[in-house]
Amino acid sequence: MIPAAKPEIGHHERKAVDRVMRSGMLAQGPEVAAFEKEFSAHVAGRESIALNSGTSALHMAFLAAGIGPGDEVIVPSFSFAATANSVALTGATPVFVDIEIDHFNADPAAIEAAITPRTKAIMPVHLYGHPADLRAISAIAEKHNLLLFEDAAQAHLASVDGVPVGAWGIAASFSFYPTKNMTSGEGGMVTTPSAEIARAIRVLRNQGMERRYENEVVGFNTRMTDIHAAIGRVQLTKLPAWTAKRQQNAAFLSENIRGVVVPPVAEGAQHVFHQYTIRVVDHDRDAFAAELTKRGVGSGVYYPTPIHRLPSFAQTLDLPTTELVATQVLSLPVYPSLTKRELTAIVEAVNTVAKAGA
Ligand SMILES: *Cc1c(COP(=O)(O)O)cnc(C)c1O
Repeated sequence: MIPAAKPEIGHHERKAVDRVMRSGMLAQGPEVAAFEKEFSAHVAGRESIALNSGTSALHMAFLAAGIGPGDEVIVPSFSFAATANSVALTGATPVFVDIEIDHFNADPAAIEAAITPRTKAIMPVHLYGHPADLRAISAIAEKHNLLLFEDAAQAHLASVDGVPVGAWGIAASFSFYPTKNMTSGEGGMVTTPSAEIARAIRVLRNQGMERRYENEVVGFNTRMTDIHAAIGRVQLTKLPAWTAKRQQNAAFLSENIRGVVVPPVAEGAQHVFHQYTIRVVDHDRDAFAAELTKRGVGSGVYYPTPIHRLPSFAQTLDLPTTELVATQVLSLPVYPSLTKRELTAIVEAVNTVAKAGA
């Protein structure tokens, strides 16, 4: 069976963990500081602040920028629930917009149409590793004087016109969950051009204090441990080569797969293929996935239910593209360690099922 995803943990990661264990300093310390510095090199030198998850990164970034009750934040509904949860947890209201069908990202026209006097921010998601239309969306943010956030949880090293994701908005959030393009076990990172926001996040993650026992605000414990940072530092050194391999794997799949819609890449965009997501248009998607499983090919559906229809939000909205693609998307294995033989097996299975009908 070829699994849908496969985290790569090697002996360098194990050695790094052992080094931290031997040091006796396990909580946030020098490894976290080094990880932050090294991560900044991948986001055009912006300041990086490590957190215990990508969700905490989103949440702390909103709080640090002053998002709260009465504010509206525009987000796509076609994403992981954490995108909207992080808005709602601040007391602000997530306003869900539709996506464009090619790259499954927030539609700039829908964003502009959703702006009200209460809109404070826009947060596109770089879904599956394909950057959102950052040129258009940052122009909208500027025109309407709104803050631009990025949910870059799936998009480490993606870019638009050579400018990396994480270097566009007032704050961007990355995730290091095991299935993401790199992992620290659990973990997240905020990147920001604002020294003020960076400081606010450092205070919020540490119980509201910069100096010990001089708590300035009511804060959290959302710190990353040095154990996790040590894993993340090793993975970060491997990320560029892994990303290139994901892109090569995706190119092979797109050249050879027939009978389904393969994912196009926008001009000027670097797609880092966190997921390689096809649209199954001529067959029932779930039956198609079941047929692939029978042929030894794992796949995943991200996400079967748009966020606005989850019981946690339960809204009735007219988001036709979101609703359509939720029934069509299917993510195939694309991770770096796939062999040529496995890639060929994936192509053969997809083409056979597409031809035969499912
Ligand atoms: C994974 C993910 C998150 C949350 O990250 P965690 O590290 O799991 O908390 C947020 N947004 C998107 C789009 C994600 O894929």
